[in-house]
Amino acid sequence: MVEIKEVPVKKESSVFGQVSEFQHEQVVFCHDHETGLKAIIGIHNTVLGPALGGTRMWSYATEAEALNDVLRLSRGMTYKAAISGLNLGGGKAVIIADSKKDKSEALWRKFGRFVENLNGKYITAEDVGTTSKDMEYIKMETNFVTGLPESMGGSGDPSPVTAYGTYVGMKAAAKRAFGSDSLAGRKISVQGTGHVGGYLIEHLVKEGAQLFITDIDQERLKDINAKTGATIVGLDEIYDLDVDIYSPCALGATINDNTLSRLKCQVIAGCANNQLKDENVHGPALMERGIVYAPDFLINAGGLINVYSELNGYNRTAAYDQTEKIYDYTLEIFNMAEQEGMYTQLAAMKMAEKRIASIGKVKSTY
Ligand code: NAD
Repeated sequence: MVEIKEVPVKKESSVFGQVSEFQHEQVVFCHDHETGLKAIIGIHNTVLGPALGGTRMWSYATEAEALNDVLRLSRGMTYKAAISGLNLGGGKAVIIADSKKDKSEALWRKFGRFVENLNGKYITAEDVGTTSKDMEYIKMETNFVTGLPESMGGSGDPSPVTAYGTYVGMKAAAKRAFGSDSLAGRKISVQGTGHVGGYLIEHLVKEGAQLFITDIDQERLKDINAKTGATIVGLDEIYDLDVDIYSPCALGATINDNTLSRLKCQVIAGCANNQLKDENVHGPALMERGIVYAPDFLINAGGLINVYSELNGYNRTAAYDQTEKIYDYTLEIFNMAEQEGMYTQLAAMKMAEKRIASIGKVKSTY
């Protein structure tokens, strides 16, 4: 029976050492001399269904770094799909290249053929460094690609759905911390006002929250300030604000040894992936400080739910309905964490593992 062990993310030197540490089913190295394609597809776990996860194009400093990233990210997708009640496994791909200058139609189509050769065990989508145009090229070689533009019958930009899931997850966390899920009048800091952050801010403004925003993009900040009156704060200042809720919507690892002691919020709920620099250290530390942490992979699952819906003929209402369940799932995780005396991220991982183990048993007979 598949049991996904909680593993610290540490660097194993051998390839199989790392693969076995993260407990992957399959890792595929793809190479094409003509196009310069160097890709790694990580298939972590397919007990619940095909491994779905985006393709990231990034100029990794070393191949070891690329492998570590794909293993870590694909494992995260297993948890995200399982906890969201989807019949999907966890996968991800990385392409070692510069997204600004190394792309070509041939490279994407070659990559599409590698995806096709996996016969549906892995389904790809957009991620950092890739666009819907790139997905269109992949689609020329395989149907195992999702998150296509609406013009191609796809579900389009997942960000509004991700933002909605983050919003309802934040409300659930507010209910836990303050006894009410109303965000009216709550002081909320939003770090990153990009695709998801921007839509999240719209929900928060509608509900009457008092917003503090930061971003490296000054133009965007000015624009949001003009539209909503949100207060602009500095990139580092955001950690010292006296707010009720901190919402990381830019980068990962912002909850770390440097920031933790500075945070004055009672709730952390945002869309960024891998917010805890070290989940085994900073997860328990948040619990000790009495901060209600809404697990990132749970409340940012709206985008995955959206592309999952595309696989069976996209239905926007169904995608939003499924995303709304994040509210209940988040409260369930808080209850479980309290009952079992564990930090919320661990409770979410345990709940995901439980679902995989029990559905694995369902599938054990023909
Ligand atoms: P995005 O690139 O559109 O937005 C990120 C924003 O963060 C940008 O405006 C950028 O300028 C800003 N930023 C970068 N560095 C910053 C810093 N140091 N301080 C403050 N702001 C900074 O990305 P997005 O699609 O909105 O995604 C945001 C996060 O949510 C990412 O971590 C992403 O992996 C995660 N996520 C996104 C989705 C989705 O549907 N787009 C789904 C799940 C998770």
